[in-house]
Amino acid sequence: MTRTEAVNHTSGSAGRAVVVFTDLDGTLMDHDSYDIAPAQAALEALAARSIPVVPVTSKTRTELVPLLARLGLSGQAIAENGAVIVNTDGSPDTADAREKIALALDALPKNIRKAMICFCDMEIEQIAAATGLTLADATRAAAREASEPFMWQGDAPPLTTLTEILGETLEKFDLRLTQGGRFFHIVPPRDKAAAISALLSEQTPRPQSWVLGDGPNDVSMLLAADRGALIANEHVNTQRFLPADHNLYVSGVSGPAGWHEAITAFLTAEFG
Ligand SMILES: [Mg+2]
Repeated sequence: MTRTEAVNHTSGSAGRAVVVFTDLDGTLMDHDSYDIAPAQAALEALAARSIPVVPVTSKTRTELVPLLARLGLSGQAIAENGAVIVNTDGSPDTADAREKIALALDALPKNIRKAMICFCDMEIEQIAAATGLTLADATRAAAREASEPFMWQGDAPPLTTLTEILGETLEKFDLRLTQGGRFFHIVPPRDKAAAISALLSEQTPRPQSWVLGDGPNDVSMLLAADRGALIANEHVNTQRFLPADHNLYVSGVSGPAGWHEAITAFLTAEFG
């Protein structure tokens, strides 16, 4: 599907308010430099139409605070891959996951719990060493409110085996297991797509959603969007996770320049 066709396939929704939901790393912000300058004009075009922009990220709320200031955003946000919804007053909705995670970790057989090295077991220096973050950034990344990253002592079993080992206990506490780039994560069932759906359903009439992302963990929220844009990613081939008949806009360039490209196409399609 060409990009022009993709735009033409998105349903016209004239008259309905719009909310933009966007991943940050590799989408609104450059993957390596964290630059947002190429997206600035598109951010201003959205602001001129009073269209809110809601970040949706795997980062913690503590990591998000300085970023929101830099992006000039002050509304709602979604952190920890959907597990945390940040309200407009800055307070978090954590779906009670923190408490459930602590109870689940305590309920695991001792030999299994011993094999897990959780963020909550590590000093900040160890987290910095494991992630390559500075101590200050590792401190912000460690401030988990509704999910828990962990490593496995020695060679880690594949996710399917680990799900068999931990699944029953996690299920009891309504938690799930997922795998990120570096760590396994214990998470509540609310992912990025479910958190967006929760925010949209708070408003009547339900606004239309424009959703932008670049990674495999963005696919479910992109496919659920009224207008979805996959931003080109030089590191991961996210397109292979899309169904053949998807109607997402696929940007030609990566990061904030691709974000600008997609938002400009959406604004033209919606408002002419
Ligand atoms: Mg990303």
